[in-house]
This record gives sequence, C-alpha cells and structure tokens, in this order.
Amino acid sequence: MPESPIWHPFTQHAVFPDSVKIESARGAYLYDSAGRPILDAISSWWVNVHGHNHERIVAAVQAQAARLDQVIFAGFTHAPAEELAQGLLELCRAHGMPDLKRIFFSDSGSTSVEVALKMALGYWMHLGQQRTGVVALDHAYHGDTFGTMSVGGRSVFNAAYEPLLFEVHRLPFPEEGAEQVTIDAFAHLLEERGHEISALIVEPLILGAAGMRVYSPATLKSLHGLCRKHGILFIADEVMTGWGRTGTRFACEQAGISPDILCLSKGLTGGFLPLAVTLATQEIYQAFYSRDRAKTFFHSSSFTGNAIACAAAVAALSIWDDEPVMERIQAIAAHHCKSAAHFRQRSDVASVRHLGTILALDISGEQGYLADVAVKLYRYFLKAGVLLRPMGNTVYVLPPYCVSLKDLDHIVETIDRGLDALQNGKLE
Ligand code: PMP
Repeated sequence: MPESPIWHPFTQHAVFPDSVKIESARGAYLYDSAGRPILDAISSWWVNVHGHNHERIVAAVQAQAARLDQVIFAGFTHAPAEELAQGLLELCRAHGMPDLKRIFFSDSGSTSVEVALKMALGYWMHLGQQRTGVVALDHAYHGDTFGTMSVGGRSVFNAAYEPLLFEVHRLPFPEEGAEQVTIDAFAHLLEERGHEISALIVEPLILGAAGMRVYSPATLKSLHGLCRKHGILFIADEVMTGWGRTGTRFACEQAGISPDILCLSKGLTGGFLPLAVTLATQEIYQAFYSRDRAKTFFHSSSFTGNAIACAAAVAALSIWDDEPVMERIQAIAAHHCKSAAHFRQRSDVASVRHLGTILALDISGEQGYLADVAVKLYRYFLKAGVLLRPMGNTVYVLPPYCVSLKDLDHIVETIDRGLDALQNGKLE
C-alpha cells in the first residue's frame, strides 16, 4: 500500500503515522478492515446520538438521494429543509426557547458560530449602533475558523494565528465556589462598556474542548439575566451540549433561559451527515429585513441546506419521538454517576465530573492538552478495542445513546486498566 497522502485533523503525523481504517459501523461500534469491533465511546467526535447507521436515517438518506440531492438555497427551498425547520421551531418551543423564530442553515459547528457572530454584529450595525465588542468565557472553544478561534480561549490550538485573531472581552471561567467572580466581572464590564458590546457567547453548562469543565445552571441563568438587563444578545453555542448530551435536550433548559441566538450541529442529523443551524429571534431577523438589499445577510456556503443532510436530520428528529431516547440518556447518566464515585476512589485521579451523558476525569500530575498521558492512553484504549481520545490529562466518556450498560461497564474497566498500566509504568 502506498503511503496515504491524507493530512488528518488534529493529528500529529510524526506521532501517529497510521490511521485506523474503518470499514463499517453499527450502533455503538465501529469495525475496522479486519472486522475488529471498536466501541465508539466518544460518539465519533461527539456527533453520534442514536447509534451508527441507524436504519431509519439510512432509509431517509437513500430515499432523498434518489429524489433530490442538492439545490442552490438562495431563492430555492425543498421539503426536507421546510420540514426540519418546522420541527426545530416546535422543539425549541417545547424546550423553553419560544423566542427562536428564524433558522439559518450551514454545514458545521464552526460555521454555525460564525453565522451567529455575524448575525449579532450585523444586528447592531443595522440598528445604527456601533457595538463590536464580544464577550466570551476563558478557555472556551467554538471552532477552528478565524472568527471562532477569536472568541475561543487562546491556547496551543490557535497560538500560530494569535496575532490575527480579533480581541474579545474574556470572563474568568466560573469555577465551583467562585461563580460570583465571573458574574461580578461581567456586571462590571457591562456597567463600564455595555454600550460597546454586541453579545455574550457561551457553551452552556460545560466547556467541551477545554476539558469538560462544568459550571452551574444558576451561573448560566445569571449571565443570561445580565445580558437581558443590559440589552446584550445572548448566544448559546450548543454544538456539543445540544441533543441530550447534558441530560436534557438542550443545556439552556436547565437554566430556564431562552437565548437570542442558538447554534446546533453534530447530533442534528444523528451524527450522520454534516449540517448545522443557527436559530435567531424575530427581532434579529427583522433588523436585516428591508427593501435595502445592502442589508441582506451576506453569508452562505455552497451546500447550505443540503437536501440529503436535511432528510437525515428529519429522520433523526423522529427517532427522538419514536424510541425511548430520554430513557437511554437517563440510564447512561445513572451509570456515569456510579462510575464517577468509583473513579473518585482512585488516588491517581484528581477530579471527576459528570453531566448527563458526559463523564470526565483528570489524571493527577501532567497537565495541558499536550500531556503525554493522552497519547499513551489513547493507544492503550484503542488496543483494548475502545475509542477514547483523552484531551491532555482529561479522559472523558461521551457515548452514543444506544450504548448498553454492559458496554459502559467495559469502558469503565478499560479506563481503570489503562490508569493501572500508567501507574505501573507499563505504557509507552
Ligand atoms: N462549538 C463547540 C462547543 C464545539 O464543541 C465544536 C466542535 N467540537 C464546535 C463549535 C465546532 O464544530 P465543528 O467541528 O463541527 O466545526
């Protein structure tokens, strides 16, 4: 076999020269070219919710592909997009976000956030107000495009591009017990410079790529309340937290808040195809609505609103109604709760947290995304047939909801054995 010319994402090829070749997938399992099963304990980068190759989504995609593949989305529409848009609005209403009335399609989490930022900044410009400031949390991650890197925390991920990133106002992460520091910092900023600020963007309840850092619904509610008080837009990036990850369909529900702009992707199609949406209030839409064509929302990508991806999303939505998805989520959450108590007993584990279907632990000692333990453990887990991809010294589990309790036991045992091997110096 000639050497592969592919340059993989977030992959240092000098450390990981070979990629695992996956032939097929079903439920919570991937199968490599030798037919070996690999338990997908991170939902293939947090996208999969109902299991791989769910037959309902497969059938919907096949039927749609035979009917209409792709059509320009400026000036044109199609049934899967319309059905999906209605379904999403209904869902938002049912989950405490009734103010969201308009839906803009794009293709990835990053583009959904880019769209959100452009909507927020454009909104103020069209209202005739100079508000270019954006507020974000320390350590946040919102994607890898330039706008999303700018609102993200500065880190090894974006160090090479730092001089080109735009500055944002940064709030300290609301650590447990010190939440008031964050709230006070935001209140102070708004009092001093509120008139320059367009929006606050947050990952609600948990910062994913920052190492699964959890904060309280009460803090989220306070931040939202301050936005309301000062007339600042509130952007919820639920690209990771959406679709049940935190135990409720959307994380915002737990704080009882309705954002002005909501970003969704990943699990939107069940993790089957790339698709994203940015939902906005009627008021934001209205700021762009004019006979003046210069006020058009100038954003698109070629595949905006792809019909096959929309059909996959419609099917994924219906699975929530027809299968006991919330019960599966509750079962995973209960299992994580037990596992968290178990890992807290280990002296080599510094911190354990769990939120809904997410379980995370930090290994004592080494820190930061480049910690070597990540590489050693990743290899160990993979050899044991479990896909876990530690972020630095943080090991986390974020499975598809079809995962069985037996599979979850197996994941916990595999982590335990990996940590033992690490402690005994048996991992290279
Ligand atoms: N926002 C959040 C909170 C994310 O976790 C991610 C990806 N992990 C993104 C945005 C970017 O999504 P994508 O990789 O699909 O561009």
